[in-house]
Amino acid sequence: MSSRRGSCGNEIEGGLMGPISGSGDRVERGRDDHAVVIAGGGPTGLMLAGELALAGIDVVIVERRANQDVDGSRAGGLHSRTIEVLDQRGVAERFLSAGQVGHVLAFAQVPLDISDFPTRHNYVLALWQSLFEPILADWVVSLGVSILREREVVGFAQDDTGVEVELSDATSLRAEYLVGCDGGRSLVRKEAGIDFAGLDPSTSWMIAEVEMAEEPEFGFRHDSVGTHAIGRREAGEPIRVVLTEREVEHTGDPGLDELREALVSVYGTDFGVHSARWISRFTDMSRQAVSYRSGRVLLAGDAAHVHPPQGGQGLNTGVQDAVNLGWKLAQVVNTTSPESLLDTYHAERHPVGARVLHNTMAAVALGRADDRHQALREIMTELLGMDEPRRRIAAMLSGLDIHYDLGEGHPLLGRRMPDLDVQTADGPTRVFNLLHDARPVLLNLGEPGGFDIEPWADRVRLVDARHDGVWELPVLGAVAAPGAVLIRPDGHVAWVGDPTDPRLPEALTTWFGPP
Ligand SMILES: Cc1cc2nc3c(=O)[nH]c(=O)nc-3n(C[C@H](O)[C@H](O)[C@H](O)COP(=O)(O)OP(=O)(O)OC[C@H]3O[C@@H](n4cnc5c(N)ncnc54)[C@H](O)[C@@H]3O)c2cc1C
Repeated sequence: MSSRRGSCGNEIEGGLMGPISGSGDRVERGRDDHAVVIAGGGPTGLMLAGELALAGIDVVIVERRANQDVDGSRAGGLHSRTIEVLDQRGVAERFLSAGQVGHVLAFAQVPLDISDFPTRHNYVLALWQSLFEPILADWVVSLGVSILREREVVGFAQDDTGVEVELSDATSLRAEYLVGCDGGRSLVRKEAGIDFAGLDPSTSWMIAEVEMAEEPEFGFRHDSVGTHAIGRREAGEPIRVVLTEREVEHTGDPGLDELREALVSVYGTDFGVHSARWISRFTDMSRQAVSYRSGRVLLAGDAAHVHPPQGGQGLNTGVQDAVNLGWKLAQVVNTTSPESLLDTYHAERHPVGARVLHNTMAAVALGRADDRHQALREIMTELLGMDEPRRRIAAMLSGLDIHYDLGEGHPLLGRRMPDLDVQTADGPTRVFNLLHDARPVLLNLGEPGGFDIEPWADRVRLVDARHDGVWELPVLGAVAAPGAVLIRPDGHVAWVGDPTDPRLPEALTTWFGPP
């Protein structure tokens, strides 16, 4: 590959190169050297860049698109846990003010009410990806992240000290780590030789955003081919059409004529369809990278997992991958933690991705139109009408039940920390406010002054607090109030105990480096 170092050009959007920060052996970097290069500035790449920038890491995004415009509206919204992670960074309001709140999500078209979930965000936020991305990009750029636009990562070579990243404009960048957030067809994944294991598609859907001269039938229609839908979220928006196709194999995107034909075959009319804003197709292909890491190269988002959009989980899973990886990669770059911390990224996020593939496969099967699947769907609808099954499935789709396996212990261990109202020496606050700067927090809920974490004081913030209410987790319900919790920057609980617990130094070392 080319080792030529070009200038970064003048299409850089955003701030100057961030500072090289952290303790330990600092790596000397030249003009086109960065701690981290991210291939792809979609939802996952942007979120990861934001997390790294908050930790003071010099990160650059290489993005093919000239701006943040998205083809079609794509993803329809945000689930509770994604809104929570944005809330942990103090930016949730930007997204909430641009979308619409709804208390019902759906599994295989079975509605699931989540208004009784113990979270401030007990709803789904209807917000098209085309609106989500520019808001996220504005925040990330405001943190000083540079986006190199209209350029692609076309190859890379890694060695003991870094990765040489080759760009489409015949320049290259040197990075300590390269993260492929470059979508389902990820070049980074392919070049890294990481197998994308899973299932070939069994069904293909045509998707379009159009205008229609006649008033169409809004809602779902089932026939022998499958389920079809026509809808419009708001007056003034284009009409969205999703049609199950007879054939699975296709070459390229369909055109307006093909859409007309498909409408006629399902509805007997094309409703005078015109002014197509977007016509595309998607399938139920389900594949996952067998490893999320190969040396200095990591994968996140669609680059690591693809699945059908049933349940609306793809974008959400990618953003949450980024929040799991960001602080770990920052600590490794800063040399506060050993490289092995990065292995916990795969260990924690691969099972989450696998579960999304699994539930979307089930949703596709339940959506089949024949009588037997219809019977199965009716039984599922009955089951999901009961509280316990509804809570379990809805907590899975919303990401609120994610439980990283950190061993035996208090139910909070490995789960998301609830956003409790707490009293601190600085006055009343809520837990998520303590996580805005993406640094770990030791929250002492017992006698103030009981902890001494001096060796980690530069990395972990100790907060004495009081919470008088109950501790309630999604699905599990009320749990015993802990004496103290160690909260990771991603909001997951790394340790639960009291000042005398000998496992606290071990947990601090595991997650935030040796004293
Ligand atoms: C019809 C449809 C409906 C969907 N509905 C939902 C939903 O309701 N909810 C949900 O959560 N998800 C949904 N999804 C999935 C969601 O759109 C994706 O999961 C999400 O976009 C993944 O984000 P990402 O950043 O990982 O990848 P992408 O969004 O694919 O972003 C990858 C980025 O990398 C860039 N890129 C690619 N290759 C290179 C390269 N070599 N060099 C530089 N840049 C490169 C691309 O331009 C792109 O910007 C839907 C998807 C589809 C198609």
